[in-house]
Amino acid sequence: MTKSSQLAPVTVHIDVPLRFFLASPLHRIPATLPLRSRRSIKDFIESLGIPHVEIGELRADSRRVGFDYLLRGGERIEVRAPELPIDLARPGYLQPLPLSEPRFLCDVHLGKLTHALRLLGFDTAYRNHMDDRALADTAVHEQRVLLTRDRFLLRRSSLIHGYCVRHTDPDKQIREIVHRYGLARLARPFSRCLVCNGLLHSVDRQAILEHLPPKTAMYFDEFYQCQSCRKIYWPGSHYEKLDASVQDWLGKSKP
Ligand SMILES: [Zn+2]
Repeated sequence: MTKSSQLAPVTVHIDVPLRFFLASPLHRIPATLPLRSRRSIKDFIESLGIPHVEIGELRADSRRVGFDYLLRGGERIEVRAPELPIDLARPGYLQPLPLSEPRFLCDVHLGKLTHALRLLGFDTAYRNHMDDRALADTAVHEQRVLLTRDRFLLRRSSLIHGYCVRHTDPDKQIREIVHRYGLARLARPFSRCLVCNGLLHSVDRQAILEHLPPKTAMYFDEFYQCQSCRKIYWPGSHYEKLDASVQDWLGKSKP
């Protein structure tokens, strides 16, 4: 019987965007790594720190393979990042569930990114009280892309769509997500409630007059109301600043 330690090592080439996850000794690419037992390519790559949801394509000896490909030793493995922008409506062969529209779920540390995505009109849930398992289950059940800075959270096997946000600065985070998922052409700014993620509908001033500060009622005549939490919005003093941010994030700012 062959001892597991006698399996031939594998040679691994990892695309630059995915080297972010690697421990420093692995930065010499391609790396030759021992294979201690026969295992799936998914298990092996995740043991290096790369979450399966970030992988665009896997190859073994130049042949495209799925997550369940069983390594036998001696292969040359290529781990490729997805081509950007990712079209979530088109199923990838490793992420077979297409999303009818880009929908997101942000973990507790991404409150400002949540706010920015809602400002652009994207359906973005935010949870600050869920454990990792519940977050992953919710993302799958509600067909959302799980956004987090916790790389271990993305290794939960049930997850299909997820991404480890690289930047820590919120302004760079929203640009990162817009770029990754090609959101500029899909954005519908100012169409969603920043507080609860509900949709905004135009509402007549008379219908909400009693809920408005007196000066607001006097100076504004364009109002929107959240269909879920009933919060009222109008293009007040913050609007121009927010709109400048929106245009900037979408790459449409004036020179
Ligand atoms: Zn609301």
